[in-house]
Amino acid sequence: MAYEKQALYYNGQRHETSETFQTIDPSNNKPIADICKADKAAIDAAVHSAKDAFIKWSRTTAMERSRILLKAVALLRERNDELAKIETHDTGKAFSETSVVDVVTGADVLEYYANLVASGGLNGETTQLRPDAWVYTTKAPLGVCAGIGAWNYPIQIALWKSAPCLAAGNCMVYKPSEFTPLHALKLAEIYTEAGVPPGVFNVVQGAGDVGAMLTSHPGISKVSFTGQVSTGCKVASSAANGMKYVTMELGGKSPCIVLPDATVDNGVNGAMMANFFSTGQVCTNGTRVFVPASMKSSFEQNLLQKMENIRPGDLFDPATNFGPLVSKVHHEKVFKYIRHGIETDHAKLIFGGLGQPELPSGVSKEGYWVRPTVFTDCTDAMLITTDEIFGPVMCILYYDDKDPHWLESLIARANNTNMGLAAGVFTSNIDLGYKVVQRLEAGITWVNTWGESPAEMPVGGWKMSGLGTENGRGSLEHWTQNKSTLVEMAGEVPTAFPKL
Ligand code: NAD
Repeated sequence: MAYEKQALYYNGQRHETSETFQTIDPSNNKPIADICKADKAAIDAAVHSAKDAFIKWSRTTAMERSRILLKAVALLRERNDELAKIETHDTGKAFSETSVVDVVTGADVLEYYANLVASGGLNGETTQLRPDAWVYTTKAPLGVCAGIGAWNYPIQIALWKSAPCLAAGNCMVYKPSEFTPLHALKLAEIYTEAGVPPGVFNVVQGAGDVGAMLTSHPGISKVSFTGQVSTGCKVASSAANGMKYVTMELGGKSPCIVLPDATVDNGVNGAMMANFFSTGQVCTNGTRVFVPASMKSSFEQNLLQKMENIRPGDLFDPATNFGPLVSKVHHEKVFKYIRHGIETDHAKLIFGGLGQPELPSGVSKEGYWVRPTVFTDCTDAMLITTDEIFGPVMCILYYDDKDPHWLESLIARANNTNMGLAAGVFTSNIDLGYKVVQRLEAGITWVNTWGESPAEMPVGGWKMSGLGTENGRGSLEHWTQNKSTLVEMAGEVPTAFPKL
């Protein structure tokens, strides 16, 4: 095995269990590590270690916590390439991507929250109610929180959850996706090395059954979940039984709109970023690409030329910008959708389709490769335009920009989905771009760019795409509970029961 056996981690130590599963390298379909699976006793132990740690951690000053977390930021940055290599082996994403995005954007968020809490981010409000009466509010941590991760941005998701959680004084039991477990123990040990006390950040491993045991555990106060809408619904309803707080970061089927005044080059570049980055495995992908009918031939011509710049290959070759899909089961799912698009939806296939992309010599053909695929002349009702495929499959939908009501109809079509994670427009007319974005039903929107999600930007979905937000100043609130205190200083306790 390329990696050592991955233990669980709680109370500041590794713990092995007898039952294990394997993680597979998506680029060659070979196992790379045995992973210890958590059972009920291990979950209990992890939650209890977090509960014990909470007593002290929640009482440290924000400045002390910040100092420790900033040490973890430095260690993450120092080990960027080592961690990015692990992510490439576990997810199948090219190193050209993991080395500049995954660890970097995770460390940025940890730095952001460490600095925010140290500079008053957890302060409440004071109100002078009367000359001798004050109301003040404080933000208390919630307790032990569960973090449940998806497989597309493993270490980034772990950091986006644990950063505000720990900075606000909570403890976390984190379960990564069973498909990408390798980063978790590394991160836990980096936290420990930085000085995070034992029990503050813990790791359990396993699939949905382990996730369900963790999220329904009575010792958990909040569940922060990233994954599919269907799983999110199950997790949120189980959390509701225990009146636990939830943050739900779920899937999408986002509209990517090229307005008639956009340059073809910008529209195509944007649409490609919105569909093929990370082999299309990005929750915010803009997979419904709306293009003005008058731009059809120039758009398709330009796109087909640029599709040649997608370079599958050796994942550690700096020129490679496209990897295999994450797992065998996901590969089967994406293939099923492509087949459905061709055989049942009868969408017009202009690039890609079934089969493998051409791979340079020396690259294993056993990987979960799929061809970057473009369907055009799609209609709103096709399955490939309504379902989240989560692979490199672009659907182009044309709109009649000569129709006097084109804008109304375009906005209605863009919003015609029960998901609302992201949306974006490409335009040379910033006034029009602004007007369109204002009316799009989505929590994350972009104008003339796609996909950037910096620490400063709160992100979260509308409709079925989620609840709450991650990142940005306001999201810290999702990791605290409010306490309001009214202090009367008039010297006498007011009463409605005076002696008459
Ligand atoms: P998934 O729902 O299959 O699994 C997500 C996690 O939930 C895994 O760790 C899994 O083991 C766990 N899980 C499964 N059943 C569970 C249960 N009953 N109780 C508790 N945990 C359970 O999702 P996935 O396939 O890993 O990830 C892809 C999905 O994630 C896509 O839909 C994508 O859009 C979404 N996603 C959303 C965001 C966002 O920020 N909105 C970010 C990344 C991915």
